[in-house]
Amino acid sequence: MKVLKIDHLGIAVKSIREGKNFWTDVLGLEFAGTETVEAQKVTTAFFPIGESEIELLESTSPDGPIAKYLEKKGAGIQHIAFRVGDLEAALRELKEKGIRLIDEKPRHGAGGARIAFLHPKSTGGVLVELCER
Ligand code: ZN
Repeated sequence: MKVLKIDHLGIAVKSIREGKNFWTDVLGLEFAGTETVEAQKVTTAFFPIGESEIELLESTSPDGPIAKYLEKKGAGIQHIAFRVGDLEAALRELKEKGIRLIDEKPRHGAGGARIAFLHPKSTGGVLVELCER
């Protein structure tokens, strides 16, 4: 498999409306809009930086994965996403290498991406997302 770049950093926030000021007003990043992914009970907001992006994640439901993350760990970096050319091939290869996959098959993410998560138990504690666009 080939990792092409860091696609984005996913950051859990209580509220995108309140959380976005640092990224826009202080750092001067462009706010590329929000998108809700109901299947994951999350609303995302993207802020492009060069070749990568910051992704703010706000839960749409108290039982969503981001709500649970905030409860356990508080706001902060929740995942790192790597862009790959062929997501199915990458998942096959990682499985062969004994990496625990949260998603055995790609699912739909924000921005029309196909994504899959790797289990932090296999990555030294980091929730890793692979994405293909
Ligand atoms: Zn992400």
